[in-house]
Amino acid sequence: MSTASINTCLFSLTKSSSSSSSSSPSPNIIRSSAISARLSNNNNTPSPSFPNLIQNRPVFAAPSPIITPTWREDMGNGSYEEAIEALEKLLREKGDLKATATSKVEQITAELKTVDGEKPAFDPVERIKTGFIHFKKEKYDKNPELYGELAKGQSPKFMVFACSDSRVCPSHVLDFQPGEAFVVRNVANLVPPYDQDKYSGTGSAIEYAVLHLKVQYIVVIGHSACGGIKGLMTFPYDGKYSTDFIEEWVKVGLPAKAKVNSAHGGAELGELCTHCEKEAVAVSLGNLLTYPFVRDGLVNGTLGLKGGHYDFINGTFELWGLEFNVTKPLSVKDVATILHWKL
Ligand SMILES: [Zn+2]
Repeated sequence: MSTASINTCLFSLTKSSSSSSSSSPSPNIIRSSAISARLSNNNNTPSPSFPNLIQNRPVFAAPSPIITPTWREDMGNGSYEEAIEALEKLLREKGDLKATATSKVEQITAELKTVDGEKPAFDPVERIKTGFIHFKKEKYDKNPELYGELAKGQSPKFMVFACSDSRVCPSHVLDFQPGEAFVVRNVANLVPPYDQDKYSGTGSAIEYAVLHLKVQYIVVIGHSACGGIKGLMTFPYDGKYSTDFIEEWVKVGLPAKAKVNSAHGGAELGELCTHCEKEAVAVSLGNLLTYPFVRDGLVNGTLGLKGGHYDFINGTFELWGLEFNVTKPLSVKDVATILHWKL
């Protein structure tokens, strides 16, 4: 494949991603998408207020690595216009904007060339390029029927909630093929309760999956050694936060923490965390019931809920089903183990 066609492919991915990255928990990524969208809306005419180091063009074609702006507390919590102003201010504090940007580019370029003067350093652009070429040759080009169908639309049977942890990609672990699973990943694979203001990102994904894609199952998958769950179990919640987002986000799992501490209070942290990884899945399944269209799907028999736990230390996967009975009050206690594979 020529470099030109790679550029085209990546560019089209870049453009579409600007409107579909709401599942990402990273404020940096969200901001980058907003910046990209703003550039697109301006018919590619850069705003005079934009730092020239943020580029709206394919990465593969860029002669130098793009600088990722460092986010700082004083960059503000408002619009991305404010954020860009804050970024410019940060660069001006260090001296002339262009000079700073130029030297930064040179520094990063030098760092990419060598580590310890010998070994080639990690090159993110090369890694992404190599990965896409492999995918294109080995999968995309070899499955024209599948990708032809996917070009027309998607009809996934599963909606999956999984952790952002780099070790637990559900498509990898469960061998989901493109088009099979509509995936939301966040820290600790949590499903928050229905809240149009606070959790519109998650809510919109569930709404789209259930009402428009008509998925048949929603699966929430926890995993071993989950950093988000460890945080939940160890954050003091004494009125003072030490993180910008994490403590507030994983509070969704507080009912699981309370249950684990009540049932296994004397256990070591590792054991408590393992229990909580599974209890938090149960809480998420319970929270799914706060969404009216999920309840409707369950009552009508068009939707099922599953909970899972992937243990990558022992190589096992557990799956739960939610016992749904409209004549009894629903409880996370209704979550029963139905399958447990040890391969
Ligand atoms: Zn995790």
